[in-house]
Amino acid sequence: MILLYVTTHDRTPVILAVNRRFPYAGDVDGDAQLVVDFLNTFDTETGHDELANHDSWEAWAASRGLPPAGSLATARAARHALRGAAGDDNSDARRFAVEVLVGVVDGVPQTVARDAAAAVLAAAARVSEAGRWSRVKLCAADTCRWAFVDGSRNRSRTWCSMDVCGNRAKARSFRARTRRP
Ligand SMILES: [Zn+2]
Repeated sequence: MILLYVTTHDRTPVILAVNRRFPYAGDVDGDAQLVVDFLNTFDTETGHDELANHDSWEAWAASRGLPPAGSLATARAARHALRGAAGDDNSDARRFAVEVLVGVVDGVPQTVARDAAAAVLAAAARVSEAGRWSRVKLCAADTCRWAFVDGSRNRSRTWCSMDVCGNRAKARSFRARTRRP
C-alpha cells in the first residue's frame, strides 16, 4: 500500500499522489451526500453541533457505517476546512491533511481511511476528483448556511430550499424593490 494524504488545497479537496490510471467509478453521489451530512453536523441557525462531544461524534460516525470515530479535534478541524472549501467565509483554513491508505482491497483499487474524519475527507476528495466539488454548496442565506448538493443542470442552485430560504430572500428583494421613499 502507498501512504498518501488527503488535503484541502486552495479550497479544493485533493488526493495527492493518486494513481490516475484508475478512473474513479464509485458512488460519487453517496460520497457527496456523506460530505454534506458531515458539513451539516453544525447547524448555523440553531447552533446545534453534533461534534460538541466525543459521544455524539461517535454516534454520528457509527450511524453511517464509518470507521471508528477517532479524535474529536481532528473531526472538528476537518469540518472547518471542508466548510471553507465549500465556500464558508468564516473558515480561513486553507490547508488541512489527514493520512489515508490507498491500495487494492478485495480486488478493487481504493482508499482506506483509518477513522471517520479521514473517510469523510477521502469522500470529499473523490467528489473533487470526479469534477463535482462545485456542486457541494452552502445555502446563500447568512443565517442558514445549510450544506446541500446542487443537482441542477447548470449548477445554479443558491438556496438549501426554495420554500424556506429562497422565498425569504425573494420576499426581501420584493419589499426592497417596491419600497416608496
Ligand atoms: Zn437555507
